[in-house]
Amino acid sequence: MLISTINHVVFRRLLLTWYKSHQRCLPWRITKDPYKIWLSEIILQQTRVMQGLPYYERFVAQYPSVAALAGAKEEEILRLWQGLGYYSRARNLHQCAQTIVAQYNGDFPTSYHALLTLKGIGPYTAAAIAAFAFKEVVAAVDGNVYRVLARIFGLTYDVGTSKGRKQMHQFATLLVDHMQPDTYSQAIMDFGALQCTPVSPFCTTCVFNNYCIAYATDSQKTLPVKTNKLNKKDRYFDYFILQHKDAIYMKKRVKSDIWKGMYDFYLLENKQHLVVDQMDDPLFILARSYHLPITTFEKEERHLLTHQRLFVKFHKIDLTVAFLQEAKQLFHQFSLVPFNRREIEALPKPILIQRFLKKVDLS
Ligand code: SF4
Repeated sequence: MLISTINHVVFRRLLLTWYKSHQRCLPWRITKDPYKIWLSEIILQQTRVMQGLPYYERFVAQYPSVAALAGAKEEEILRLWQGLGYYSRARNLHQCAQTIVAQYNGDFPTSYHALLTLKGIGPYTAAAIAAFAFKEVVAAVDGNVYRVLARIFGLTYDVGTSKGRKQMHQFATLLVDHMQPDTYSQAIMDFGALQCTPVSPFCTTCVFNNYCIAYATDSQKTLPVKTNKLNKKDRYFDYFILQHKDAIYMKKRVKSDIWKGMYDFYLLENKQHLVVDQMDDPLFILARSYHLPITTFEKEERHLLTHQRLFVKFHKIDLTVAFLQEAKQLFHQFSLVPFNRREIEALPKPILIQRFLKKVDLS
């Protein structure tokens, strides 16, 4: 294994010099307000900067303080979050804001370890807030940092394992600039995002190319090492749009599953798609007895989540008054509630449902 000849002092100097002329002008970078820094860090988890920026701006405009966010309704927050995915982040954001108001009088805790006790704040986010807002000497280590350090120093720690991430974290901690941990952390993240990019890094113009092991050994593609043990689970959803005139029946997802707290249509899930004529669900037995026709939309939608692949079919049933009267109890049992189109627009919904409603004419 080759060892980089760069020492920590030179590494920091080159990085900070690079940052002076390349830093991104982002609203959460020019503030020391821990609320805004926290908000940006939660929004940017698993999200590209350009996609997250408008969400950040909308959240700051609607909830300018942690107290305003704590006082909001969860449904409003989920609606504003709609389209970003990973909705547990939004629910944790709300709970965390409420804890800060209730237990810390609305002031963010100022240390890494205290931040780490809050809901939805993991080691990276706690370190980012502690470093950016309070200048604590801690390493905020994300995917950008793994990549930069692995390539320059030729580190082969497997960041797909907790052991490898721990080793990387220990290494990163030794490099943090004690005088300016905030600027240093921002610099290394921007360097990973702009110069040492995952695919096709800009090596020929890079300030580290005299020292970089990946460049010397042409191993940019294999560093950082990350074994991928993620097996995606396949799920088959059959959604039923139960419609009567302008009203569509929807329900709130309350179980601990994807999209908790959001609204979707009546859903049946099975090991494969359902054969509509053979369904023994009580609602369909009743629908058949009323000879209600079921229309199936031809196209199967595919929706990818981090750990799951969803195969989704949509069906529509136009309901009659007589059916609705008899099905009252069942609808209540399934928590199905009628909403008109304007009300549906305001509900927090999975993006899959939002897209379907936009695409299809249900009049
Ligand atoms: S030389 Fe290439 S791989 Fe090495 S740090 Fe620079 S951009 Fe990254």
